[in-house]
Amino acid sequence: MELAFYLATTLKTLRQARGWSLSKLAEQTGVSKAMLGQIERNESSPTVATLWKIATGLNVPFSTFIAPPQGEKPDAYDPDQQNMVITPIFPWDEALRFDCFSISLAPGAVSESTPHEKGVIEHVVTIAGILDICVDGQWQTLTAGMGIRFNGDKPHAYRNSTASTVHFHSLIHYPK
Ligand code: MN
Repeated sequence: MELAFYLATTLKTLRQARGWSLSKLAEQTGVSKAMLGQIERNESSPTVATLWKIATGLNVPFSTFIAPPQGEKPDAYDPDQQNMVITPIFPWDEALRFDCFSISLAPGAVSESTPHEKGVIEHVVTIAGILDICVDGQWQTLTAGMGIRFNGDKPHAYRNSTASTVHFHSLIHYPK
């Protein structure tokens, strides 16, 4: 199944399962009703930051929208022309409760994240290149092999200040 179609269908299904209108979903996620309608109709692909707002408002893991279940090889999620490309490494496991992504960030790209669900912990490890990450308002630089663990329920940001793509892994733990 095409990933964009899967994402659109999943969003609509989750909203309807809660008995929510598009207005209610907008209220819960902080994403406009117009934008949510476009995403559900597969007319627009949300940025990574917008998709995180949606996942947080619905209280589901990020991978819910980009990792079709049942062993299909996951596609890379690449909504904004390769600024930030996210590929799930493992399928979601309800008992383990973590997402694990391979992420690449293009030269000059910045991704700012609103707070995730309360209690979410992120572990970021740079694989190749140099990653800047902002936690608690402080920018830090992670070269290959370096990692950081931080509370994902506060604003944070990822940035590539170099001329080559940076590749990192992100392991995100969700509370019970
Ligand atoms: Mn994050």
